[in-house]
Amino acid sequence: MKASISHNRFSVDEKGYYGRFGGAYIPEILHRNVKQLEEAFDRYRDDDEFNARLDHLLRDYVGRPSPLYHAERLSERYGADIYLKREDLNHTGAHKINNAIGSVLLAQRMGKRHIIAETGAGQHGVATATVCALMGMDCTVFMGAVDVARQQPNVQRMKMLGARVVPVESGNKTLKDATNEAIRYWCCNPDSFYVIGSTVGPAPYPRLVAHFQSVISREMKRQLLEQTGSELPDAVIACVGGGSNAAGAFYHFIDRPEVRLIAAEAAGLGCDTGMTAATISTGSEGIIHGARTMVMQTDDGQIIEPYSISAGLDYPGIGPLHAHLAECGREEVVAVTDREALDAAMLLTRTEGIIPALESAHALAVLERIPFDAGSTVVVNLSGRGDKDMDTYLSHLND
Ligand SMILES: *Cc1c(COP(=O)(O)O)cnc(C)c1O
Repeated sequence: MKASISHNRFSVDEKGYYGRFGGAYIPEILHRNVKQLEEAFDRYRDDDEFNARLDHLLRDYVGRPSPLYHAERLSERYGADIYLKREDLNHTGAHKINNAIGSVLLAQRMGKRHIIAETGAGQHGVATATVCALMGMDCTVFMGAVDVARQQPNVQRMKMLGARVVPVESGNKTLKDATNEAIRYWCCNPDSFYVIGSTVGPAPYPRLVAHFQSVISREMKRQLLEQTGSELPDAVIACVGGGSNAAGAFYHFIDRPEVRLIAAEAAGLGCDTGMTAATISTGSEGIIHGARTMVMQTDDGQIIEPYSISAGLDYPGIGPLHAHLAECGREEVVAVTDREALDAAMLLTRTEGIIPALESAHALAVLERIPFDAGSTVVVNLSGRGDKDMDTYLSHLND
């Protein structure tokens, strides 16, 4: 194992555990795949030629660095200096492309030809289909049938990009079910390369995805130094579905206790309504999609179907990194309702002229909940843009 895995209490150990969360709970048939992936990742993550190719694509194809924007009118309203990390301006409209490029480059180095992925809101599917078009790979995307219906523009994009979109009819036909189906397909087709869209799944996926997303906080530090004179903010806020944009936004601040890390999870209609996706607030320890983590489950271990207005947060698990950070108290968790997210989206649109993704709106809503001192620096990770959510926004405009 590489020396790059350090040994403080927030980092991952050799077996892929963050504290007691993580690991790889997978069927026998996938052991070889996961082992090969781990070896390839540990070989290429510090490879100069690999990183030169990755950096080139992040800059000239994705458009990085994404701006760090001082939102003046929002700052005036909340009495603190609010900065937005503009992942919404990336090619394909969200942070997902950072991981898709890194992962597909890795697949290419491993000689793989066929990429599979799961998707909820469709952003990870679009990002993966995009990179597959760019690199000449076959692409199959599994998507819950309910999400196929509520995220049509992204479904059409994936098809135009040449991906096969497979609607999944099991469970409540959303992200969890798409992930089950992708894992099932992977077991039957171990030659395919599974690009997971978040910091979930068996080790090494959580640390691999966090690594490829860590570019977000690497840029933040440099941009904050330029704009505020200090590379450390007082707080970073990000939404968590599986936890990848939050992992990327928190990554380089995790060992700096003076920086508050605040995760916004989706409360849906409210944590006590049974219509929620707030895994950390309402879940308990269990195993989902190959990792030990917090899970929304009944007393006898049945997964509880999650609900959120936002397809990208509609997931009954959470990345093991976040389960651990939350348990240690390193990360504060705020459960944000559909209503609060819709209001925050409208506020950003009308005060800054930016229509955020519904997922990102959950992070923005934290500004209403937590008061920040005058003069403090608060970064909100704006994980994506709202084009895909226009139907939902318009249908709630006059609520
Ligand atoms: C997918 C998605 C999310 C949620 O996924 P994480 O892995 O928790 O980041 C958040 N925001 C946007 C815009 C997304 O597309």
